[in-house]
Amino acid sequence: MKSIETKFRYALTGFLLFLSVFAIAQSKELPRVIILATGGTIAGAGVSAERAGYTAGKIPIEDLIGTIPAVKKIANITGEQVASVGSQDMTIEIWKKLAIRINEIFAKNEADAIVITHGTDTQEETAYFLDLVVPSERPVVLTGSMRPSTAISADGPKNLYDAITVAVNPNTKGRGVLVSFNEGIYDAREVMKMSTTKTNAFGSPNTGPVGQAYDGRVEYYLRSEREINPKKPVVITADTKFPRVDIVYMYADAPADQIDMLIGKKVDGIVIAGVGNGNFNKAYMEAVKRAVKAGIIVCRASRAPSGRVVLHDEINDDELGTIVSDDLTPQKARILLMLGLTKTKDKKQLQELFFKY
Ligand code: GLU
Repeated sequence: MKSIETKFRYALTGFLLFLSVFAIAQSKELPRVIILATGGTIAGAGVSAERAGYTAGKIPIEDLIGTIPAVKKIANITGEQVASVGSQDMTIEIWKKLAIRINEIFAKNEADAIVITHGTDTQEETAYFLDLVVPSERPVVLTGSMRPSTAISADGPKNLYDAITVAVNPNTKGRGVLVSFNEGIYDAREVMKMSTTKTNAFGSPNTGPVGQAYDGRVEYYLRSEREINPKKPVVITADTKFPRVDIVYMYADAPADQIDMLIGKKVDGIVIAGVGNGNFNKAYMEAVKRAVKAGIIVCRASRAPSGRVVLHDEINDDELGTIVSDDLTPQKARILLMLGLTKTKDKKQLQELFFKY
């Protein structure tokens, strides 16, 4: 006859076996999220908690995931380090790498959603670029932080946790690339860094956020109409070559030397961050004519943070040979023009892209 102790041991082993099988079954059912890490403050380490100075992109992705153990209950997380840069050093090569890897992950069904950790300085540009080249309906959510991981009240862990809750939420599907930051959810096309230092760094001046992440929950208020069109303008491959498009800022009494320098460099496109409704002075006007004559596509955008640049309004674009950015910021107009120019130099077709995407 077995002793009570042995019976108890058997029962306990059985129970533990059941628990682990249950845990494995449960974890199998959790959505699979791959975190693609690129660096930024969220992975930044400073010399001390009370000082703002730090080096971006120092903390590896595994350590970042380790700061939010609660996430294991909502997703099966794996991480990949794609780059380790402050996002002021973001490059078109890293964008390409990200786009190709994301499309591969979804094509091979390696994950249900992707979260990208990224510095905040150019996060809006990466988000919009990816929005234009990732055709999948599956969620892609960017996030970052304003305070390094070593700071008092570091915002990285909360932002990362929220971004994962957004990524695994069933209502996130089909919304294109999003930015999740400080409990706000922003459309890639609309989002903009609004503050250099505050933790509430992002906003969408034209539309507001599309939703909110709070208490581990996600609530959407609106959907970008342009996201309903899932057809992306460009397919990125390792061989894709991007034309050169530069941005020139307009200000009172600005000389047009920079435009002439770019004509000399034989760039493919110039976006003018104009004043007001995409306006510029007489010196710029003459230089723009020279650029157009040289075969450069010139797009009128605005340095104003909201509103649109209207075709044939104060400036007759047909006569001048320019196109307009609609309501894209100059930095995003540059991305769309760059992508558009990989397919066509036709102004009409390029202009259409600005009204569609
Ligand atoms: N300038 C760095 C970057 O964009 C740090 C800023 C940040 O991540 O908040 O990566």
